[in-house]
Amino acid sequence: MIENLLVNGIKIEYQVSFSKRQTVSIKIVPPGLIYVTAPIKIKHLDLVNIVEGKAKWIYKKVCELQNAAIIKAENSSDLTENEKKDKKKQLSLDLKSEIEERINYYRNYLSLRSILPAKISVKSLKSSWGSCSSNRNISFNWKLALAPPEILDYVIVHELCHLVHMNHSLEFWNLVEKVKPDAKACKIWLRKNGFLLDL
Ligand SMILES: [Zn+2]
Repeated sequence: MIENLLVNGIKIEYQVSFSKRQTVSIKIVPPGLIYVTAPIKIKHLDLVNIVEGKAKWIYKKVCELQNAAIIKAENSSDLTENEKKDKKKQLSLDLKSEIEERINYYRNYLSLRSILPAKISVKSLKSSWGSCSSNRNISFNWKLALAPPEILDYVIVHELCHLVHMNHSLEFWNLVEKVKPDAKACKIWLRKNGFLLDL
């Protein structure tokens, strides 16, 4: 769903999606795309009010976004170490339920109804965005909470496809691209901008 925001007489478009999360999240992604994720049951007027309450901030951030940078609605550079820790915990929890929803969606899409990860976890991963172990446990880097939705989807699809092919063979990549045709672009995006995904 596309909504509009009027700031200083300028119309700004933002993309709204709904999830089981409890709070509204606003992500601004280069080159200035705005993604709002809201609880399913939110009233339209409440959603509009929340986004409009952040209008000045959104406008400022969109203007500032000359170089690739991901900024969450909260100004994380002002957070203390303890606040960062709490924030990371909250983001990880929200991310886990977001991932579970997306996995359900992609399982149907993939007709992989019988293929399920044994366990899904969100944690600090040193040098990867996701991993899939031989006993079918899938882990995701909590920093994906700060990534654009299509990038998160790419990592989810990548790990799900490892449940079919436990390698990076041609068959594996073919399956990934069948499910997520923009996989290559997402992979490049992560390589270029991944380091920005942090509090
Ligand atoms: Zn892989």
